[in-house]
Amino acid sequence: SPEPLLQAANAAMHAAKRLPGTSVSWASEQQTQHLASSFRAEQALRAGLHHEEFTLMYQPKVAANTGALLGFEALVRWDRPGIGRISPMDFIPAAERNGLIVPLGELIITQACRQIANWRVQGFNAVPVAVNVSPLQLLDVQFPVMVMKTLKEFDIPPQCLSLEITETAAVAHMDQACEQITQLRQYGIDVALDDFGTGFSSLNMLRSLPLRTVKIDRSLIDPMPHVDAIAVVKAICDLAAVLQLKVVAEGVETEDHARAAMQAGCDALQGYLFAKPLEVDEATRWLGERY
Ligand code: C2E
Ligand code: MG
Ligand code: MG
Repeated sequence: SPEPLLQAANAAMHAAKRLPGTSVSWASEQQTQHLASSFRAEQALRAGLHHEEFTLMYQPKVAANTGALLGFEALVRWDRPGIGRISPMDFIPAAERNGLIVPLGELIITQACRQIANWRVQGFNAVPVAVNVSPLQLLDVQFPVMVMKTLKEFDIPPQCLSLEITETAAVAHMDQACEQITQLRQYGIDVALDDFGTGFSSLNMLRSLPLRTVKIDRSLIDPMPHVDAIAVVKAICDLAAVLQLKVVAEGVETEDHARAAMQAGCDALQGYLFAKPLEVDEATRWLGERY
């Protein structure tokens, strides 16, 4: 019948488009099912955006030497009616595949700016909040302008917002995003390279992108204070010092991690030892007590 035939043809077309150059592809049952499930994921994400089902949690970052609060990282959650809270690991990759990361990313920046503005009204003037952005958002030449417009809308100085980027499989060459990062830095917004030391991030990126901060992935922090692990973290800190980058250790879960990271040269620490990602009122309490 026509409908399954069209679905199968559509699935085959998608498979063909994934291959470079011209290609012929035959539809298979599996392809059709896969396409149907990613279509359902896309519909759900669209509905979630429409109904504003996304919220941000805020995880503190503290100074390695004093424990003072330096700022927060905003981490998105999706509260799906009837299903519950969903982790970003389960929907960001899908949003990157279907392009919805662009409107979702805009919503996240708007929500973070609204929260920064709320905190400013309460007298916490200069709390920096770091927002994660997909490198796919950075490929959009309009991205820096959108960020600046949002800051202006909420009357926030650019020092209050910073961005964390992770190189993913979605963008093989970060040099395409370099221009946007440069522009953001010129506006006064700091950019950090996230999850450093894992899969896609390279030493070359540390040198070639106009970054301010590097965040060491928790997979490198976790095995500390094993001597080999300390050596690796220390080497990254030494390199960062030469490149004038600040270093944040992610996933600090124990006193041993914290001590070793500080001794290795990390400037800031983030992890469950200090706090899990917090709801807004808990984050506000942190601001009152430790800022
Ligand atoms: P990330 O940016 O590296 O964020 C750190 C992740 O580690 C967070 O997971 C955080 O909850 C978790 N974490 C923090 N401290 C500890 C610790 O001590 N131990 C352990 N085991 N985990 C810790 P989360 O919130 O599930 O986020 C996962 C990833 O999803 C983030 O990794 C980030 O890449 C992405 N993500 C989160 N929010 C956004 C967003 O708004 N936009 C985009 N594009 N990506 C986001
Ligand atoms: Mg991050
Ligand atoms: Mg990270």
